[in-house]
Amino acid sequence: MRTLHEFVQLPLETLTHFSHIKEPSDLPVKEIQALIEMFDAPRADFSNPDSIDLSIRQIISKAKEATDRTVEMIARISDGFQKWDGPLFDQDEKNEIEQQLNSLNEFLQGLQVYNTRAKIKNLKYKYDRIEQEQKHLQLLDKLEKLQRKVIEFRKDADYLIKAKLVGSPSPEWADYVDMALENLGIALKNDENCSAELAEINRLKREYIDYYFAQHQKNRLNATENRQKSELLKDSRYEALTVLTSKIDLFRNNEQFEEWKQKVQSLKECYHLTPEKLEQNPECTYCRFNPREEFSGKKYAISELEEQLDALLTSLTDILLTNFNDPDVKESINLLGDQHKALIDGFITNREFQLPISLDLINAINLVLKGIHNEVIEIERIVEALGDGNPITVQQAKTNIEQLLREIVGSNDANRIRLTVKTR
Ligand SMILES: [Zn+2]
Repeated sequence: MRTLHEFVQLPLETLTHFSHIKEPSDLPVKEIQALIEMFDAPRADFSNPDSIDLSIRQIISKAKEATDRTVEMIARISDGFQKWDGPLFDQDEKNEIEQQLNSLNEFLQGLQVYNTRAKIKNLKYKYDRIEQEQKHLQLLDKLEKLQRKVIEFRKDADYLIKAKLVGSPSPEWADYVDMALENLGIALKNDENCSAELAEINRLKREYIDYYFAQHQKNRLNATENRQKSELLKDSRYEALTVLTSKIDLFRNNEQFEEWKQKVQSLKECYHLTPEKLEQNPECTYCRFNPREEFSGKKYAISELEEQLDALLTSLTDILLTNFNDPDVKESINLLGDQHKALIDGFITNREFQLPISLDLINAINLVLKGIHNEVIEIERIVEALGDGNPITVQQAKTNIEQLLREIVGSNDANRIRLTVKTR
């Protein structure tokens, strides 16, 4: 006959076949053995009351611990067991798991009453129930493991979900992300090794980082380029074009210059981003570059913009020179005052502006472009205004001359009229 000591050393399965062995006391040995197994408590030597007490204390302590974990997991399951894009379990699965965890919870809480040798003699849970709850406890372990995996994988999943909103390396990329995340969810739920799914997710992340970084660098100025941009906006040709397009009607709101300014303004500096930083966040945290919104397909090189600036000034200069060839304009030029005429003549001779453009030259250009009219006054009208041989007061002379000038100018712009006195 086996000794008691040998008996307690036997595994649970074998144990059941030895029911003929006399139990050492009125303790439910088989059930206690099952609980020891369930909670991985120290094996009890049933000939030694201290050993039994130790095992009971361990069982109760671990049951308490498992109760907290179960309650927490029940809350999580009722929440749907959220992964990155919603619940991992459907309603039926949720119900099934909840049922098992509720049973486990009731059992674990009920078990805590039997915290002494005397009390455990009245243990109401039979072997079959313990065996069943052991499976439920294994389910809890499995769910906790799953939870840890979800948390671990969520970082990359959330990354790709956010990245999809920022940009896409190719039209298919976003679909691949959806597929990869769905596959990962399925693999998780089936408790499979997720390495293939994770490798695909990692590949998609790499593809995104390479794409975003390249676009960012293409669309952002580095420190040197940014300095060149500032210099370009202080360039005397830029200032000349600003003056010409704001003060001369012919060039007002010049479309090409507006476009050029937009191109320059669209060039933003950012030289902080590295692929390593993109590992953490799918968007540049410094400039929030969004390839979908900003990507124009072309970043203008500063040197190219400088050439365009030069060409623009040349183009406006040529337009003016062409205009100055017009016979009416030529006549207006001849009617200018000496200073203005010298400025225009200088411009025509040089065929370019002296920078910075003088405001006097701008005024002269405006005058000739609007046209200067020559009004002829017959000498008799002046003689008449001055009394025609009769003495008049100075005040009267002033009034008469002013009246005469008003008649000549009419509704015209006085600046655009030149007077010539016709003598006999
Ligand atoms: Zn940036």
